[in-house]
Amino acid sequence: PTPVHIVGGGLAGSEAAWQLARRGVPVVLHEMRPHRGTDAHKGDGLAELVCSNSFRSDDHTSNAVGVLHAEMRRLGSLIMACADRHQLPAGGALAVDRDGFSQAVTEAITSHPLITLERGEVDGLPPPEWDSVIVATGPLTSPALAEAIRARTGEGALAFFDAIAPIVHFDSIDMDVAWFQSRYDKPGPGGTGADYINCPMDKAQYDAFVAALIASDTVPFREFEANTPYFDGCLPIEVMATRGPETLRHGPMKPVGLTNPRSPEVKSHAIVQLRQDNALGTLFNMVGFQTKARHAEQVRILRMIPGLEKAEFARLGGLHRNTYLNSPRVLDPTLRLAVEPRLRFAGQITGCEGYVESAAMGLIAGLFTAAERLGQPLPPPPVTTAHGALLAHITGGHIETVEPGPRSFQPMNVNFGLFPPLDANPTRDAEGNRLRGTQKTVAKKQEMARRALRDIDEWARSAVPGDGEVAA
Ligand code: FAD
Repeated sequence: PTPVHIVGGGLAGSEAAWQLARRGVPVVLHEMRPHRGTDAHKGDGLAELVCSNSFRSDDHTSNAVGVLHAEMRRLGSLIMACADRHQLPAGGALAVDRDGFSQAVTEAITSHPLITLERGEVDGLPPPEWDSVIVATGPLTSPALAEAIRARTGEGALAFFDAIAPIVHFDSIDMDVAWFQSRYDKPGPGGTGADYINCPMDKAQYDAFVAALIASDTVPFREFEANTPYFDGCLPIEVMATRGPETLRHGPMKPVGLTNPRSPEVKSHAIVQLRQDNALGTLFNMVGFQTKARHAEQVRILRMIPGLEKAEFARLGGLHRNTYLNSPRVLDPTLRLAVEPRLRFAGQITGCEGYVESAAMGLIAGLFTAAERLGQPLPPPPVTTAHGALLAHITGGHIETVEPGPRSFQPMNVNFGLFPPLDANPTRDAEGNRLRGTQKTVAKKQEMARRALRDIDEWARSAVPGDGEVAA
């Protein structure tokens, strides 16, 4: 059979190649390094970790990324096998010896008889004779390929810069302080007129908030990011704060068209709005609140906002170079480009975030492609699993903005806010004692973790083609 071509030998591309080859499908893996480098990679090994050496928590009983680890191991992940083999002591986290890890992945890929590694840049849309392609070129996709993808997917479908506003778990917002209302009660397409959560501030609170932002410690730009100018409309809030005390009040914190139902006669001095971020309504993003403040600073300063004193963040803000698709708009549920289904995308370019998530989206892309070759289309994993939840976020479980404005699809790490709620939240422990406070949250996460692993096993058993099932 003709080979599947994979572009990019990073975390996602290597994992996808492995999943295909172990099912007997020949693969040509194209990696541009060392002929052409990126601004972050240093060597020529496959699956190079460009920054930290941590795969984050390995706790599969109550942590979403730990659940993703466990699911990947159950699905025969090469990345997880190499990480486990090169693990370093790091408490509950899975940290790895980056060189040993990358060497192990390179060795496994180059010694597999069905994988051919070709060093060289794919500098335009893959040629038409490649009938099955996985594009896994990551956040630093080479400019020539990025431009070709942008031309094929259309204006606005590929972002080059990630201006991230923090995302909050709904159940941590104090709705005795905040309220639902759209500005001027306007229902956007598909909206009700009460689509935003509003957090009010009086003048003293606003002044203190602006002062805290101005004094905040921000993450410095990396050298290659410093030359990328801010886009209009995505200035970090701490930069806006330095431009004058009224700037935020006339920008993302403007109070017009909103009335606090608890004190309708008092006009708020400023209002922070949050917009629903996933179809489940468990996550809300802070509108216009992209920030480069250090993470601990963000938590401290954002909790000064009335209603967010106890906010838990599904992700914090940031601003960095990142090439990724507006996937909910352009990819189908199995990660294929709707306008050109021979091209499937994998890894961070699909709009997930993180080493583990990128590898997981490589694994899934590899499985979908292998199943196609076998003529046994594979249904996506259940949304109750970490793989399924992440995939649904990427391919359309996400809500588009309810009113015209900046794009709302933001790359995200896996987190329990992406999982559907439980049918019933646990209220008692195994001994029958009533759960309180944080015990309830932990019990909920534990139940979601159990449900995920049960459902991934069932999906793997009933749907995923096993080793050697695909004719070579
Ligand atoms: P990559 O691992 O980047 O792999 C893509 C591969 O494609 C590269 O090897 C590249 O050389 C190759 N390539 C690109 N264009 C072409 C082309 N046209 N032809 C052929 N080959 C091509 N995540 C974390 O979890 N922790 C971190 O600490 C972390 N730090 C990061 C730091 C930076 C600077 C960046 C940019 C990202 C970071 N990430 C981090 C996010 C992300 O998890 C990693 O970028 C991850 O490596 C993404 O995996 P990937 O397989 O999608 O892409």
